[in-house]
Amino acid sequence: MKVGILALQGDVGEHARVLADLGADPIEVRAPEELAGIDALVLPGGESTTMSMLLESSGLFDPIADRLAGGMPAFGTCAGMILLATEVLDGRRDQRCFGAIELSVRRNAFGRQVDSFESDLDVSDVVGGPMRAVFIRAPVVALAGEGVDVLATVAVGGAPTPVVCRQGSVLVAAFHPELAGDWRLHELFLSNVGSGGDGPAR
Ligand code: GLN
Repeated sequence: MKVGILALQGDVGEHARVLADLGADPIEVRAPEELAGIDALVLPGGESTTMSMLLESSGLFDPIADRLAGGMPAFGTCAGMILLATEVLDGRRDQRCFGAIELSVRRNAFGRQVDSFESDLDVSDVVGGPMRAVFIRAPVVALAGEGVDVLATVAVGGAPTPVVCRQGSVLVAAFHPELAGDWRLHELFLSNVGSGGDGPAR
């Protein structure tokens, strides 16, 4: 299966290696014509404000939005999660997002002292055991819509905050699974990618 990786900025190479390890065919996407051949899209970590600007200048924003509306499976990590959300809090005023998963996310909201941290997540139900997660200036989910499955949380100020979420064929993680040597979320994502093109929209 051909899996695109949005390759405008961010940790593209890490995702490409994981996908290739898992037997997929990673395709770096920098221009609209490169979307035609892909079955699914990974949106990597990096800087969502920069990616938003580059999505506009490259002409990729609208064609990706169309594919997502058509049900193309997508996996967003950290900045990629921000791009897939419906609302971005504390973003740039002109920052855009795809609205592919009903989440309101606040950028860099884990707080300065814990801009980067690691945590053991309980994602046993979906991937069969705990998962080490690397958070780097990660977004916090301020609100998850009713249709969103929360697959893992971390405690923020005592309250469980979603860090792995899924809605239809869209999977997001607030952290960087591509950096922790554990590919089970990528496997979960790929298990949802058929060979026959986009499925029904959610
Ligand atoms: N803080 C970044 C942003 O707002 C995300 C950081 C990351 O992807 N590691 O886009």
